[in-house]
Amino acid sequence: MKIKIGLILFLGGIMVSMGQSHYPGQHQDKLTLKDSKTTKALAFDIKDVTLLDSRFKENMQRESGWILSLKANSLLHSFRTNAGVYSGYEGGYDTTEKLEGWESLDCELRGHAVGHILSGLALLHATTKEEVYKIKADSVVSGLAEVQKVLNQNGYLSAYPQNLIDRNIAGQRVWAPWYTLHKLYAGLIDQYLYADNTLALEVVEGMANWAYNKLQDITPEQRTIMLRNEFGGMNDAFYALYEITGNKKYKWLGEFFYHNESLDPLKKKEDNLDKKHANTYIPKLIGLVRDYEIEGNKENKEVPEFFWNTVVNHHSFVTGSNSDKEKFFKPDHQTEHLTGYTGESCNVYNMLKLTRHLFGLEADVKYADFYEKALYNHILGQQDPSTGMIAYFLPMLPGGHKVYSTPTKSFWCCVGTGFENQAKYSEAIYYHNNNGLFVNLFMPSELQWKEKGLTIKQETKFPYEESTVLTISTDKNVKTAIYVRYPSWATSGATVKVNGKKIRIKSKPGSYINIDRIWKNDDKVEITYPMELHWSASKENSNVAAVMYGPIVMAAELGKEGMEAPAPYSNPELHNDYYTYDYNVPASINNKLEVKGEKLNTWLKPIENKPLAFKTIGVENQKELTFVPLFDLHRERYNIYWELK
Ligand SMILES: [Zn+2]
Repeated sequence: MKIKIGLILFLGGIMVSMGQSHYPGQHQDKLTLKDSKTTKALAFDIKDVTLLDSRFKENMQRESGWILSLKANSLLHSFRTNAGVYSGYEGGYDTTEKLEGWESLDCELRGHAVGHILSGLALLHATTKEEVYKIKADSVVSGLAEVQKVLNQNGYLSAYPQNLIDRNIAGQRVWAPWYTLHKLYAGLIDQYLYADNTLALEVVEGMANWAYNKLQDITPEQRTIMLRNEFGGMNDAFYALYEITGNKKYKWLGEFFYHNESLDPLKKKEDNLDKKHANTYIPKLIGLVRDYEIEGNKENKEVPEFFWNTVVNHHSFVTGSNSDKEKFFKPDHQTEHLTGYTGESCNVYNMLKLTRHLFGLEADVKYADFYEKALYNHILGQQDPSTGMIAYFLPMLPGGHKVYSTPTKSFWCCVGTGFENQAKYSEAIYYHNNNGLFVNLFMPSELQWKEKGLTIKQETKFPYEESTVLTISTDKNVKTAIYVRYPSWATSGATVKVNGKKIRIKSKPGSYINIDRIWKNDDKVEITYPMELHWSASKENSNVAAVMYGPIVMAAELGKEGMEAPAPYSNPELHNDYYTYDYNVPASINNKLEVKGEKLNTWLKPIENKPLAFKTIGVENQKELTFVPLFDLHRERYNIYWELK
């Protein structure tokens, strides 16, 4: 987004795009325009996939506790105040508890988290089938509908006045009003798609009609200026509304938010990303791929593919995250950016959305491999397992630590996307097409594949174990292929047993193992991918590398020295302190390892009775270190990248 000047200069570009995209294959009963036929792998509706017990489900449950603890009156307070709707009395029994941080009444982004929370509640309802999330969301949606009515501005709805949009159009200083509105559009669309709330659709159509009328008369120059400000996934939201309603006005709006200045250079296959605000960029590509899914213009597929390859292969850390202080830097310069401000979580959230779309188009395993990498090594570990609080960045700084939010005084963008991330672990495990089922992730879950009359239960402790077991339940015999992802990291091979009998595997790592047969009730498939310790060296300097075990980034525990309260939590008294946070790394910590040329398993040994934990033996000039998965390393200092000597 446009950088603001003065006190908040350093905050330029703090945000993101959110709410769910529509993935081809989903919500078929709610779309006027049917999904294009170009898709090679279709997504399942999230309600057809149930998470079974795992770290992922525990994260979801912690997030559920937090989201339910935020009262509807508090969520609606800024909206009601903007419209003059009653919102309680100060100091009396009817006082509304006010949200702070980016949701406070004087923050120009107020209302953004409410949109994310509507998306999060929609996802939680769909995946758990529990009514509590729907009841909560229904009361928020009704409150918003009332505010929209009282505002009485052609459908405009927000927690701030239209003047913020007017300032944006006039090129005056303003944070990111369209970005903020996008969260609300997306949240309401999700309430319709995932939780059947028809009032939410009515409200968001009103908002879209307001936008259509508002933007009719602005000049091309005003449009150019307006689009330089971060606008999140407005294009994605309008394409979703177009697909739902068939109303061409919304297609016009989706195209209106095509940002020529950012996207045109990418058409020439130029890596123009250095110094660009990452999360302002990524959603623009999601909108473009949505346009392709609906309209089929090939260029709108090639540009997002080029962008994805560029970011994943040249701008990403070993965790699948990108950016330093929210910005891309020169390609293949990661080792010069091992700072405390790397890897904004919203960027990963949006890269995973883009990845899901691109996987659907080509069913190429490289997208599923990346999805796994970023999900385990970034998203899963960004939630504090003690409190459910969320970290904004994932520091690569040697001796850095995760800095978590507070429950009601932060509401950063990454807290907002966190409400969604932690609610949708079941979304990308399985895909399907006419020929078969893709098993992309090894996560305990149960899929109802209604079209085929099959239930597939997946049981595993992966990555704490190397195998996963699929059990089929069916009333009748069903012929179909099951394509099990053969990850590119599984270089030691694979074993697949069907009902205890080994089958021959013709494919190689970085592809799919195709098991095509007539499936009967109780059939079992057991898949094993041996995992090993290995280095992931940086491209620009092979002497700087991270330790991996299979797809999992392993980090060394470096203790809590110098971490004073409120660490590891953010201090809400300091304005957006995550951005200027002083990690106070003790001088005794360094990231040098004198192990060059030695095999990893000669100096890094498994710890008995502690799965996925290793300790160093006899490494010179370095204390004994314990390595655990980065996603499991919380509330203390760590190191990821090592300088090898
Ligand atoms: Zn963020």
